[in-house]
Formats: sequence, structure tokens, C-alpha cells
Amino acid sequence: MLRLKDVSKFYYNKGIISSGFTKVNAEFNLGEFVVITGESGSGKSTLLNVLSGIDSYEEGEMYINGEETSHYLEAQFENYRKKYIGNIFQNFNLVNSYTVYQNIELVLLINGYKKTDIKDKVLRILKEVDLYRFRKTKVSKLSGGQKQRVAIARALAKESPIIIADEPTGNLDSRSAASILEILHRISKDKLVIIVTHNYDSIEKYVTRKIKMHDGKIVEDKVINKNKEDISLVASQYKNMSLLYKLKLGLRNTFNIIPKFLLISLVFLFMASVLLVEYSGFKKLDYEESKMGYNNYFRNTDDKRIIIQKKDLGVITEEDYEKINNLSNIDYLIEDDLVLDNEVMFVHDASNLYLYGTIKELSKFDGDVDLGRLPEADNELIFIGSKDGYYISEQSKEILDAKFEIENPYSYGARVGSYKIVGIKYSEEYSGDGQYVFYSPDSIFATVKKFSDERYSSFELLLSDKIYKPEYWNSYMKIEANDKVPVGSAYTSADMNYECSGGTCLRKTLNITNNNIYYEKNIDIKITKNYTKNTFTSLTGLKEYKENNGKIYINPDDYESLFNRSNFQSSVFVKNIKEIDKTNAEIENLGFKTLMVKDTLVNWSEGTSQALRIIQLVVTIVLIIVMFFISYFIIKIILKSRNIYFTTIRILGASKKESKQLLDIELLTITNLTYFLLIGFLLLVYYNIIKFSYIKDLMTYIRIIDYVIVYLILIIMTQLISSKFAKSLFKKSAMKTFNEVV
Ligand code: ADP
Ligand code: MG
Repeated sequence: MLRLKDVSKFYYNKGIISSGFTKVNAEFNLGEFVVITGESGSGKSTLLNVLSGIDSYEEGEMYINGEETSHYLEAQFENYRKKYIGNIFQNFNLVNSYTVYQNIELVLLINGYKKTDIKDKVLRILKEVDLYRFRKTKVSKLSGGQKQRVAIARALAKESPIIIADEPTGNLDSRSAASILEILHRISKDKLVIIVTHNYDSIEKYVTRKIKMHDGKIVEDKVINKNKEDISLVASQYKNMSLLYKLKLGLRNTFNIIPKFLLISLVFLFMASVLLVEYSGFKKLDYEESKMGYNNYFRNTDDKRIIIQKKDLGVITEEDYEKINNLSNIDYLIEDDLVLDNEVMFVHDASNLYLYGTIKELSKFDGDVDLGRLPEADNELIFIGSKDGYYISEQSKEILDAKFEIENPYSYGARVGSYKIVGIKYSEEYSGDGQYVFYSPDSIFATVKKFSDERYSSFELLLSDKIYKPEYWNSYMKIEANDKVPVGSAYTSADMNYECSGGTCLRKTLNITNNNIYYEKNIDIKITKNYTKNTFTSLTGLKEYKENNGKIYINPDDYESLFNRSNFQSSVFVKNIKEIDKTNAEIENLGFKTLMVKDTLVNWSEGTSQALRIIQLVVTIVLIIVMFFISYFIIKIILKSRNIYFTTIRILGASKKESKQLLDIELLTITNLTYFLLIGFLLLVYYNIIKFSYIKDLMTYIRIIDYVIVYLILIIMTQLISSKFAKSLFKKSAMKTFNEVV
């Protein structure tokens, strides 16, 4: 059934051609027990390898059941090995990290035996070679003789018609050797056994044919015990490995050598961490850069801020606020949000201190101050700014001692209140002049609210059928509250009288309308007095006539009545910036118009932002390439010891493709496990079960999709590593790899 006709095998090695054997002619049939002898280097192993289909031949023709094989491709030899060949080697070629049972099961899995048959079969064979009680022992713990019995059991399990054994007793003591040969003989019925051995004597009694080789040639071929009957050939029944078997083996390989598993995990963990840190680092940079924008309308450019108005621009009711507060991502609500965008100037005249910035609610301040103390009284506040900025680095002592007034930016020189900055907190976020933040008590909010009311309102006056529109920067006809004026009355400047018919405005009705985008309110009052330079102070109680000449003074209650104190615009601050779009949509659904302040920012560094993105892309790509090679080389070193495994399974009948798939499963399992462990760890950090503020901070910049992207990059890299490794492993024929690693 196996016939060699003038077959030669040459080795081509670094420019030197040597021959393994030349012009060999022989025919082998079932039922034969052939022994090949000959001195070392005579070509015995080479001949066996060619017969087993693990090595190629260069000349002549080998027939398998009469079929020529010189045109065979690798896959056809794989097939041939699967169907016909069981190999036994001098150095056993077992999987040391598997148990005895698993080693024999391996060959049955590879050759697709039925799951239900496997267990019975393995156990039956183990009994046959007297290894049943070692079935759960790792092969590495066995003696040489025991190992060889496992190898025989493995060859038996496959039920292949041809058993090829290359010096199976070479590493064994004479007693073990005798028992191995006895077993080999026992199983050889109906099979073709070809065995190479140095001690012919010990085997003589079983032999049916003896071949002697010398210098790559057969010099003697003697039939000793001719087989009587003709035996028909039964190829071993086999299928390809099922997916389930591949998974089973892949998973077994993942975990059976723990140090290897841990080392590879470490490599993947390193890859995943570096990718995530790099990714989030850039996101953070990008985000912080985007925050540096400004806009002309809003001074509070907190990216978590959403400005809301009713769709009909109506009053926002308590009920509305309650609905919004019930949404999940709301941190807090500022009902009077206009004050947030007001710049406030804190002035301390004596030491020439002018601090300029925006206010935030003191109740929203958490943590501690860096200098001074937390406010206690309702006129005390906290000042936030850059540690290295002029005011804090040079003036903090003066600031903490001084009494401040607030200047009304819409009324030149008007200052109110008496406030004390009692605490200073450093923050690089608010660095520039005018970018300071004052965490202020309600009293300051009330004052600033008045300022902003004026800023966002415009008065229209109707006097003697003429309409006037005073400007806030101009004192002429500017309306101001003054508590010396009775309700329903107005004091005007005598210099204004020419505006009215009859040369005087006295006793004329003045209609004042406050117009703004939300409402209109108007009142009628009577001009009851004119002031002049001389009467100014006694009438108004104020000193500076010149600066105030032209102003119209009315009673504070009348003044108040010009404003609708309801809220028409408020601001919502979200907890989680990543979900701001969702929250925004929810608020819109409640009947509001919204504006996310982050979208209104004009970024003056648009160009830098583009550059940043390109740099990020380049850095990411370079990083991935570098990491790929680092990981590849580390994993290659780790897997080096596994070459023998893959060679073994190929000799046992696994195809190249199947071997690669096993490697894929192994590496992908480790990648997935590592990545999900990492995610688990991040979740623990996220929910504060593990405290790790640096990681938590970075995490706020990555969204789910980013985790998915990093995951995909990892999976692709794993695939590439596996392919590259498989390529370098399988580019040689199975035997060559085997020779190198053994
Ligand atoms: P034996 O098994 O009888 O000791 P081998 O079959 O191993 O002999 O070797 C036969 C010849 O082929 C020897 O000359 C040996 O040097 C050569 N040979 C074996 N394997 C290789 C190889 N991989 N590359 C080059 N020459 C080889
Ligand atoms: Mg040899």
C-alpha cells in the first residue's frame, strides 16, 4: 500500500545540498512489522518522515494505494497523515502541560471523533497500555517508559492503519523498552508498523521484515516472517475539528500554563491601559482646549450650563422648576440666571484694589479655602483665582483685610454694600484678570440682580407727546430710585424743562415703560419738583450735582414696580457633561427653549484644535504600531515554547488553519478577559469602590464608544499578532519546525 520508487530526499541548507537518502525503492503492506536498522546518519529518520508525510521528497515517486503523491500539496499530505499515520517518536512528542488523559483526547478532538465516543475510548486504551491510574497525571511527571506508553496510546487512539515509530525505545531502560516493544507488537495486528531501532535483538521475535540502511541507501531488505493473509485497508475514520472542540482546546491552552497566561495577560493589559490613557489624555486636552473659548453674551461659560426659557417666553413657574429638578442629570438650578453673566467689580478704594469677575452661589462652593477661612456672616465671600496671578501672589493679605463695595457697571461710579473677602482658593481655571470668581452670599446676588435688571431693561419715556429713550451710560433723563421722592412723584432737572410745552415739565405726566424681551410694564407719575444746582442736595440727599444733572428721580417703590420680578430665564447645571445632550432634550420636551452654553463658545484657537487632532491621530497610529511590535516580540518569546505544541498537533492531524484558529482562540480569550477585567476595575473606580482620583478624572473624558474603539483596536492587534506568529510558525513544514525546536 506504500511504495517508494527511486525516491530521494535532499536537504538544502545555507547553500549546501546534502542528501537524506537516495534512490530508495521499497514497498510496505498491512500486516508487516518492519524494522529498519543502520548506523546513525544513514537516513532512517528521513525515510520515516517522508513515509509519514511530515517531510517532502525531491525525486522519484511515492505511491499511496497506487496514487502518485509527487504533486501533493501541503493540505493533501495533511489529509494523508490524518487518515493513515500514527507517529511515535524517540522523545515522545507529548504535550507536557496536559494530563495523560488530555494527551490522548487531543488526537481524538483533532480528528473530530464523536464526543460520546471519546471518553470511553480514551479510558479503554489507557487500560490497554496500563496507564489508567495515571490518567489525571500531568505528562511532565511521568517516567520515560510511561511517556512512551502514552505516545503509543495516542497512536492507537487514532486507529490509523500505519504506525511509524522512530527509535521509540532510544531513551528508555531495557525493561521499559521491552514492555514498549511488546505493546507495539500487540497492537500491530492488521496494521503496518515501521520501526527504527538500534537493538534489533530485543525485537527480533516480532519482526516480519528487516531493512538495513547505509549512507542513504537500502543495503538489505529481508522478509523474515511472511504474512499469510491479505488484509484490507481501513483508513481511520476522521472528520475535521468542530468549533466546539476548537473552543475546548483553545480554552484549555489558554489556562493550562498559568505563567504563560499571566505574562500574555500582562502584555495585553499594558496595551489596553496605554491605549486608554493616551485616548483619554487627548480627549482631556481637546476638552480643556474647547473650554477656553469665550462668547460675547455669557460670562459664565461653564460647559455644564444650559440656559432655559419657556417656549412662549412666559414666566417660569415653581411647577416648572420642580419638573426640571426631577430630571436625573440635574446638578442645580439658578433661577435668576442673569446674574451669572454679570461682571461684578469689587472695589476697595483705599488700597486701589479693583477685583473684577463673575459670581457664583456660595452654597455651591465645596471643599476648603487655601487662605483665610470659610464665610460665616452674610456679607462674606470667597475669592477664586490663579495662585500665581498678581492679586493672589502679591495682594492676598490686603484682600483678606479689606472692606469692598460693589460698583454698578451700568451707573457710573455708583457703589453699594460693604463686603469682606474672607477666603481665597487657588484655581488655574480662573487665571486672567476679569476671570476671577466670587463665591458670594445671597445679598450680593440681590444687588447684582438689580444691576442686571437694569442692564437687560430699556426704559421708554413719554412726556408731552414725545418719546425718549435714555441710555444707561448717559445721565440725561435716566431714571433712578431715590427714597426722598414720594410715591407717584418724580423730580426732574430744571435743565430739562425746555423739552415740555410751555417751557416747564412741572405737573406734567411722565409715562415710563420698561421694555424687555420678556415683558412690558409701565407707570404714570407726576413731575412734582424741579431741582437745580442749589436745590439738588436738599431734594435728593445726593452730593454730586454735576454728574447727576439730568436724571429723573422717582420713589424706589415706583422704580421696583417697573420690573417684573418673575423669572423668564434660568440656568440649569448638569451633573454629567457626557449626558448633557440627553438632558437638554428632556428639558426641551418639558416645553422649554434651551441653549447649551458650551455650543455658544467662539473658539479663537480653532486652528490649534485641528492641529491637536492631527497630532492625536499621528500619535495614536505610531503608538499602535510601536505597541504592536513590542507586544508581538514579547508574545513571540512567550509563545516560543509553544512551537512544539503546534508542531505536535499538526503531526497528529491538525491542519494549518485549525492550528491557527486554536492560537486565535487562545489569544482572543486572554485579550477579552484582560480587557473586561480592566473595565471591571474602572467601574469600581467609577463608583468610588476603589479610590483612584487620577484614573477617575481621566475617565470623565471617555464615552462608551471610546471604550468600544479601544476594544476593537485591541482585537485587531491580537488578530495581527496571532497571524504574524502563525505565519512564522507555519511557513516551514511541520517537520522542520519540529527539528528546530526539539
Ligand atoms: P538517522 O536517522 O539514520 O540517524 P537521518 O535521517 O537523521 O539519519 O539523517 C540522514 C542524513 O540527512 C544525515 O546526513 C543528516 O546529516 C542529514 N539531515 C538530516 N536532517 C537534516 C536537516 N534538517 N538538514 C540537513 N541535513 C539533514
Ligand atoms: Mg534518526
